[in-house]
Amino acid sequence: MKTPRVIHTLITVFTLAAFSAVGADKIIGGPKGGRLLENPTPRAEFFVEKDRTVTITFYDAALKAVAPGEQTVNVVAEVKSGKVELEFEKKGDVLVSKTPLPEGDGYNVVVQIKTRPDAKPQNFRVKYDTRACGECKRPEYACTCGH
Ligand SMILES: [Zn+2]
Repeated sequence: MKTPRVIHTLITVFTLAAFSAVGADKIIGGPKGGRLLENPTPRAEFFVEKDRTVTITFYDAALKAVAPGEQTVNVVAEVKSGKVELEFEKKGDVLVSKTPLPEGDGYNVVVQIKTRPDAKPQNFRVKYDTRACGECKRPEYACTCGH
């Protein structure tokens, strides 16, 4: 009778996975490889595509992608020459920026999320750095090592 033990092991694995997903200390990486912001659920992932446009994906508590509802997002890139604002539009189940991020990196990006059009925006600051982290191999802006 091996079946019960296999099932038990699977349940343990799932329980541990669920536990680590809600652990407060551990930085959870965005499922797409971007930065999972610390906004209340549904949490938003800031991800920069190869063409430098930004994709924002929302996730429920189990990190399952969910379609945006009334949320609106704005991104402000703080480059040396001034602030560059990116507007977003809904594309399928994600929000995508209509324009790409400015050239280069190493500048700060502020992601402004409104849960409803009349809500106060919540700001999340991200240092946009595309160098690969030596430990987690993710780009530094999405690094999960906490350094
Ligand atoms: Zn890292």
